[in-house]
Order: sequence, then structure tokens, then C-alpha cells
Amino acid sequence: MAKFKGKAIVKGVAIGKIFFYSKDKGQVRREKPADLEAEKARYEAAKETALEQLGEIYEKALKEVGEENAAIFEVHQMLLADDDFNDSVINIIETENVNAEYAVARTGDNLSDMFAAMEDEYFKARAADMKDISERVLNVLMGGGNDNAPKEPVILIAEDLAPSETVQMDKANLLSFVTRLGSSNSHTAILARNMDIPALIGVDIEKEWAGKQGIVDGNKGILIIDPDEATLAEYEEKLEKQKEEKALLAALKGQEDVTLDGKHIKLYANIGGVGDVADVLKNDAKGIGLFRSEFLYLESDDFPTEEQQFEAYRKVAQMMAGKKVIIRTLDIGADKQVEYFNLGKEDNPALGYRAIRICLQQPDIFKTQLRALLRASAYGNIAIMYPMIISENEVMQIKEISRAVKAELKSEGIPFDENIEEGIMIETPAAAIISDKLAKLVDFFSIGTNDLTQYTLAVDRQNAKLESIADTHHEAVLRLIELVCKNAHAAGIWAGICGELGSDLELTERFMKMGVDELSVSSSRVLPVRKKIRESSTK
Ligand code: PEP
Ligand code: MG
Repeated sequence: MAKFKGKAIVKGVAIGKIFFYSKDKGQVRREKPADLEAEKARYEAAKETALEQLGEIYEKALKEVGEENAAIFEVHQMLLADDDFNDSVINIIETENVNAEYAVARTGDNLSDMFAAMEDEYFKARAADMKDISERVLNVLMGGGNDNAPKEPVILIAEDLAPSETVQMDKANLLSFVTRLGSSNSHTAILARNMDIPALIGVDIEKEWAGKQGIVDGNKGILIIDPDEATLAEYEEKLEKQKEEKALLAALKGQEDVTLDGKHIKLYANIGGVGDVADVLKNDAKGIGLFRSEFLYLESDDFPTEEQQFEAYRKVAQMMAGKKVIIRTLDIGADKQVEYFNLGKEDNPALGYRAIRICLQQPDIFKTQLRALLRASAYGNIAIMYPMIISENEVMQIKEISRAVKAELKSEGIPFDENIEEGIMIETPAAAIISDKLAKLVDFFSIGTNDLTQYTLAVDRQNAKLESIADTHHEAVLRLIELVCKNAHAAGIWAGICGELGSDLELTERFMKMGVDELSVSSSRVLPVRKKIRESSTK
């Protein structure tokens, strides 16, 4: 048994098998095999496994993204079964007397270079497919054999996880995350919180742990590998208790979000997509206070069309059946990179070309999203929220574009909610400081404390080395929140918090006293926050 220390970002206990998630499959070495026939058989077996995986992925994709999008996996199956690929691998093994890994990597490179040099756009595009299938076979040969994603419930360990990787994983198979890098406010941490699974960062993970039994203690911030019997029994008991506590909180379902002195609070939940709505309803949130629409873009290989976006927003609005759904417009850039946007490398991406800045410089992308949002507003209680605001001028530009899109829809006879609420996120010190002016231009404020803290303290929310000074209770941030609430109320609008701080139970009562009107938190935090609101007073 061995214990390793880390920083807990989501509390709770998980017990399960360790799965090592690796982006790079390791260095392919050229080696001389002991038995050429056995090497060829090894390749054949790996190819069969890869073909089976592709068959499974095709079936999953067919159900989740439809026939047109799933077709690519059929193409991969064809390319892998094709003689060109196989003959080349076998030929290299035989004539150069080398291992299967080397022959597959060389074949992948050769064929991909060949396709890349072709004139025809269709064949050019096959270059990436050749790379993809050779990597799949390599992954099997090098012991992955699992499509690099867990197939059963596991504790996932990784150097780091990007949001785009996390969203692609099957949530039912994740008991816990443990990473070496990352920080409490990173988007991967937010996803862990949304899923309500214990998570640790800053652990010196080791590849050798793969397949061993592990325990994650998100209360103490430790990972235990190969627990002895007594420790296992102790944690099994804790897991049972955890389930019981959850059952107790469940008794708060259906109760009102009201303080001891009678102030009603809007207690909403944050989501990343349609798939999260079930948890919102299960945890009895009274609305959605932040729909991070950029996940639609992150999950896609190309710009999601107006129709695709409309479908997603409409579904969420309808599933919420008249409850408020606040959808934030595209907030990519910084740690949320989307390849097809070609944003380019920046020295300071968090201070760079991101969120509303992209939307205002590329109004076509923005208008497509606004059309989809407005069309969906005819099907439920949608509000729109704009991220990363720093000036009145930006809000004026947004309003102009929004007005133009509404006029366009009207002229086309397309219905939408003409009284749709439009608010802004307050997540820069600039916006907080001029919130008196901004309040006169919008319908509501939602304070993004993750970025507001990052920019106020000049502490990169992604940087694990700065965890110790990333003081989430810093007085500067709390004073800004108070100022924003005061300015919102003076202008007759409401102010809420949708950053992670909103679910910090140590601050709930202070937020009530500051006059916060809304808290939007991860679904799993709705009931604990409800309990705290009901025990707090605004006086
Ligand atoms: C925030 O910055 O607090 C916020 C809610 O937005 P995100 O975490 O997506 O940047
Ligand atoms: Mg933000």
C-alpha cells in the first residue's frame, strides 16, 4: 500500500481500478523481433482488435451523432482492411526484419504523406485518416488496446486533461480524476464538479499504477494505491456514509430557496450541454444560470451550424419546461482551444483573443449563434448572456448586432421571444468597476468569479504552481462582488454569481448579506447550497 498527496478539487471518496490516460502513445522504437512469423501474427491480431474498436465506435456514433457523422468510422474500417495498408506493414516487417510497431508507424507516415501530396481535396483529407488508423493499431500494439478511453468505471490518472478530452469520455466510466497538472478553477475541474466525482490535482502520478486498485480521498487530498484490507474496509464504510449523506440532502428537493428572513434566491445550475440537463432536474435546480455554449463548438470538428445549435438550445429550453435557461454566447480562447478557429499562438492567451472579442471581430460566427438562440427562445424561457465584457462600447456593439438579428428574423417571419432578457458576465475588474454604467444597458449581471479572481489577483487559473496564492476568498474579489450587487440594484436589475465561488458554503451567508440574487452552481452542489441558503440571513 502506498499513499500520495495531492490537492483535492472535488470532495468525496472513490474506490476503483486505476486507468492511465496518455495522450502520447510513447516512442516507437525500431527493434529486431525474435520470430518474424510471430511478429506478423501480432500485427494481424492488433489489426483485428482495431477493426472491432472501429465497429463499436461506429455504432456509438450512429446513435449519438447520426449516420452522416458516423460514416467516417466506416471509412477508417475500409482503409484498415485494405490491401495497401496491410501489404505495406507485412512487407516492412519481412524485408527490414523489424517489429510490428515500427512497420505500422512507417506505413502510416508513408501513406499519409502520399495522400497529403495529392491534388484532389477528397484524397488530401484522407492523410489525417491514415495517421488516425495507424495510431489506433499502434495503441493496441503498445498495450493500450482500449481506444485510450476507459471501458469500465475507473479512477482516471493523467498528466493533464484538456476540456475537449474530458467531454469525449463516457461519464459513466469515470469514478474520479487524478492529474499532475491543472488547477481548481480549470475547466476540467469544473467538469469533475459537474459530474460530482472526487478529483485531485498535483499528484506525482506513475504509469505503473495502471490496473492496480486505488482509493481517492477527496476530503483529505490523498490517493492510495494497492490499499491493504483494513484501509479498504475503512473506505468502503466511508463510501456507504457518502451515499447516506446524499440521500439526506435529497430530502431538500422540492423545498424553496429562501433565507431565514424571507429573501428568495434564484438557485440555478451550470451546464455544458444537453446531456447535463438530466442532472439539473435530478438535483432540483430552479433553472440554468450558465449554459457554457462553447462546448458545442469544442465537441465538433467544424463550426456547428445554426440548425445544430438551434436544436441543442431548443432541446434544453424544452426539457427545462418554462424554467429560466441562461445561455452564454461562445467563450473560447485561452484554455478552451478549438482547432478549426485557427486562433494562432498567443503570448498571453487568457488576456488575448477570446470570447466576445472573437464574436465582435467575426460577426458572422456571432450572428449564427444569435439566430439559433433567438429561434430557440420561442420554445422556452431563454436568456442570453455575453462573456468577458470590459466596456460600454462592447455592450453597445452587441446590442446593435442583436437588434439586427432580431429584425432579420422578424422580416423572415420566424418567431422568437421579443422580450428576451440579455445580460452580461462580470468577470473582469474593468466590468466590475464600471458596473454602475453597464447596469443601465443590460437586464442582469452574472459574476464569473473564476475569471474575475484570475484577473483581479493576476493569478493564472490554469497554473498549478500558483494554487497557494490563488486565494478565492481574497477581499479584493469579495469587495468587487459587493460593488456589482450594489450597482445592479441601484439600476433595478438583478445580480448573480455563476463562477465556482457561488457554491462555496463558507461564503453563502456573506453573499446573502451582499444582496446576491442568484447563485448558479454545479448540479451536484445545488442541494448543499440550498441547505446553506435556508440557514442564512441577509441581515
Ligand atoms: C467564470 O469565469 O467564472 C465563468 C463562470 O466562466 P468560465 O469558468 O467558463 O470561464
Ligand atoms: Mg469566465
